Amino acid sequence: MRLATAEISLAALDHNFKRVKEFAPASQIMAVLKANAYGHGLVAIAKRLSSADAFAVARIDEALALRAGGLVKPIVLLEGFFEPQDLPILLANNFQTIIHHQSQLDALMNCDLDGMLTTWLKIDTGMHRLGISPEQFSKAYQTLSQCEHVNPNIRLMTHFACADDLSNGKTQQQLAVFSELIADKKQQTCLANSAAIIGWPDSHGDWVRPGLMMYGVSPMLNKVGADHGLAPVMRLKTRLISLRVVKKGEAVGYGSTWTCPIDTIIGVVAMGYGDGYPRHAPSGTPVMVNGKQVPLVGRVSMDMITVDLGLETDAKIGDQVILWGPELPVEVVAQCADTIPYELLCNITPRVDYHYIE
Ligand SMILES: *Cc1c(COP(=O)(O)O)cnc(C)c1O
Repeated sequence: MRLATAEISLAALDHNFKRVKEFAPASQIMAVLKANAYGHGLVAIAKRLSSADAFAVARIDEALALRAGGLVKPIVLLEGFFEPQDLPILLANNFQTIIHHQSQLDALMNCDLDGMLTTWLKIDTGMHRLGISPEQFSKAYQTLSQCEHVNPNIRLMTHFACADDLSNGKTQQQLAVFSELIADKKQQTCLANSAAIIGWPDSHGDWVRPGLMMYGVSPMLNKVGADHGLAPVMRLKTRLISLRVVKKGEAVGYGSTWTCPIDTIIGVVAMGYGDGYPRHAPSGTPVMVNGKQVPLVGRVSMDMITVDLGLETDAKIGDQVILWGPELPVEVVAQCADTIPYELLCNITPRVDYHYIE
């Protein structure tokens, strides 16, 4: 049995999907499954999301893995296709594509496809990453409408830069740009990621694109999933593999960065950056041992971390350690490590065993 385990609660996933519906009752749901379903396991998560109206991924390989796994729902490619040679693959597999660049329009106009693709025209309303500029939108829309390889039901989308911050006016500005551009169109719209689903109900549109919130984690600044009635899907856990008394003044771990202020018992935990635990988590980052929070001390190594259990501990070798999960929000660990929960979840490595529970 492998020590480091990601326990995935399918009941929590069901619950969070219901929460998405409660937040956006009038919208269809495009469940975002990129990056191995945010580290939760692509096909297993997709199979459980039987009520989703479509799936969304970032790469064609991810979409093909869903089809290979037996999933038949529409799949939206959030970055679209990358080369003209991709187009027959999209058509053959019922992949829908985002169109965010003139080069993609050119490829569609010049291709030789035996059928029509469903497309989502992405407008850059202010994020300035992917998307057709507002000035170019009308022309791009017209080109797409006239393309014989494109389903006339062109869908319209945009993406928000600052939706996680409710005090930031940029979301309203982006929404206003989008609404004005599409005012005379009857086409379906899609704007909201998790943060906008939770924080900006005006943005919901015909479709929403939840990622992080489905996994029970908050996209909002300084919040955790429970603040929105979400249940964390992943519990990352392992075991204690050693305990030892270390004397006051002795240093622990690589670089000797942490020194015992008093005599204590140091626990060694079978989890390190080789499993995806963040190497930059500093001394003091919380870890749960036998249901009690203790501080990580010293540097995170590849296979292990060390924790300060205190002299009074009753912990023993083999006891359970939880790195994050319902008892210890991944948002908290991410903040300690100066990153975001998205990164911690995606970074789980193949060495970790996945265990799906009801
Ligand atoms: C990843 C992604 C999402 C999902 O974002 P969350 O913050 O995880 O909900 C939505 N839309 C696009 C374009 C994305 O790339």
